[in-house]
Amino acid sequence: MTAKKKKFKSEVSQLMNILAHSLYKDREIFLRELVSNSIDALNKVRIRELSEGELKDRGSELKIEIEADEKNRILIVRDTGIGMNEKELVQNIGTIAHSGSKAFLEKLGDSDDAKELIGQFGVGFYSVFMVAEQVTVTSRSADPDEKAAMWMSDGRDSFETEVLSEDRPRGTEVKLRMREDAAEFLKPERLKAIVRRYSAFSPFPISINGEKVEQEKPLWQIQPAQVKKEQYQSFYRYLTHGDTEPLSWLHIHSDAPVDLKAMLFIPSFSMLKLGFEDEGGVRLYCRKVLIEDKTEDLLPGWLRFLRGVVDSEDVELNVARETIQNNPVIRKIRATLVSRVVKHLSKLLKKERDTFEKIFDEFGIYLKEGIVREDPEKDRLASLMLFYPDGEEKRITFDEYLEKTPEKGKIYYLTGGEKKLLEKSPHLEHFRKKGIPVLLLPAPVDEFVVTHLQKYKDAELTLITREDAVLDSKEKSQEKKEEDAFLVKMNQILKGRAEEVRYSDRLVDSPYCVVSPKDGLSSSMEQMMRAMNREFQPGKRILELNPEHPLIQSVREIVTSGKNGELATLMANQLLDNALLLDNQAPDVNEMVERINRLIENAAAKKEN
Ligand code: ADP
Repeated sequence: MTAKKKKFKSEVSQLMNILAHSLYKDREIFLRELVSNSIDALNKVRIRELSEGELKDRGSELKIEIEADEKNRILIVRDTGIGMNEKELVQNIGTIAHSGSKAFLEKLGDSDDAKELIGQFGVGFYSVFMVAEQVTVTSRSADPDEKAAMWMSDGRDSFETEVLSEDRPRGTEVKLRMREDAAEFLKPERLKAIVRRYSAFSPFPISINGEKVEQEKPLWQIQPAQVKKEQYQSFYRYLTHGDTEPLSWLHIHSDAPVDLKAMLFIPSFSMLKLGFEDEGGVRLYCRKVLIEDKTEDLLPGWLRFLRGVVDSEDVELNVARETIQNNPVIRKIRATLVSRVVKHLSKLLKKERDTFEKIFDEFGIYLKEGIVREDPEKDRLASLMLFYPDGEEKRITFDEYLEKTPEKGKIYYLTGGEKKLLEKSPHLEHFRKKGIPVLLLPAPVDEFVVTHLQKYKDAELTLITREDAVLDSKEKSQEKKEEDAFLVKMNQILKGRAEEVRYSDRLVDSPYCVVSPKDGLSSSMEQMMRAMNREFQPGKRILELNPEHPLIQSVREIVTSGKNGELATLMANQLLDNALLLDNQAPDVNEMVERINRLIENAAAKKEN
């Protein structure tokens, strides 16, 4: 049959060019990629063997063979897996399937984590061009009626494919003509070390030049007490196609309510920081046979950052992918996994605080999502939250807060901006003076979390900018405002702009602040609403004044004297805008600049006199 020549898409050429010329450090991963492709292909055949349909070479041994010919610089990786016909060769090998590949190319430039990313983006096969000057893939699909086919390329800008006239055994053979500078990868010892490093947990036998590579049993099946730290780490590398260490892991063996052997890993870092989603995923096995690679229904969405393996004798071996979601056994497994993960995190919080804090830094956002999404474990998740108390450098939990505070029954917090800004809030003065801790919540998501919870255990979560969040409200604010000429006047001037003007019980050193009415939204909630809907009108605030403050006393004099009505109006409005600014609310800039100009004119005129 005749060969067909095709050009690679430009992004593929670009990728191969980078792989061939820029990445020297981690070249050994090409073998990891080829072997894991073979493992995938063998897994697919194993699942096909469970059904009755016709299958090429049914019953033949599922295995991977590596052959190195140092003299002729040829390396072969061969499997008896699912194979590909010509069309599939073009589709799978001739193009980059993953939509993230463009993003991959962009990231590669400024990242040292190329090795990690190569695995993440499924550009795996192309890594052969780091070591090979010519690659020939010969394959025979598992479909009995298909024909064997060949794909060949020198990794520049084109490839050739051909349907072969002669039949071959089922599976795929990748033949590499190695570059001169990659001769090390033809040495059986070197190859063996790479296979041991990345593929020791292959469920299928791997041989190098006819000699079987020693393999590990499926680690999750072994009693947890017998598994060593290094084995977990090595299994994690195998699972993630990576070279990082997990932050933590849990290994579950349980018989009730379902048979379950599982191993879950918390990755070393979150992909969110690199601008990608964390889409870890858990592999579902049944009696050591891989059923599905990324089973989303095994864990709730907020645990999507976990990687791992779940194996259960209670899952039907031929469970169809579509029915996994509604399968009662899967639902039980899911509930068990969530509860065990939360328990594990609680244990880390108590016994390995540093590790827990690292996990919270990387993946805390997901735990918060669990709370907001009303997970049944919501209350236990709440006990894992960490927040900075005002004036301290170490974060604490709600429980630690409750131990510290003299005012039981309430947990006070402040939201609405960065930590530095929050620390300057006049609202804190009153709490500092009384020695009552206040938690500072800078992340917008934290506001959702506390609003969602409302209570922690029996303590009410209380935003300190609310009008009712004062510690002893029997003082100044109780003075009747009808009797105070200053307040009467201020309320008149600011009618329509402020809900009310009154004296404050909470201010110590600052002259003024705004508070939200009991039933109103907090400012940061309002900001979020505004971000979602431009028409959204923020609620009016209560302006609280500190009557002991010299500034307020001067303003009082001018306002109550009745002499300069214009100046009184300017001052009152500017006090309100200042207080709103401190509350992180944007004023009407034009109006405010105009007002300040007039205040300056007033001050200048006074000096002239
Ligand atoms: P990934 O494995 O991440 O999908 P690769 O570039 O390594 O990316 O492989 C692309 C595709 O080529 C695979 O998804 C698979 O469909 C196919 N493939 C690669 N190697 C084999 C193989 N040995 N047997 C069968 N199919 C294979």
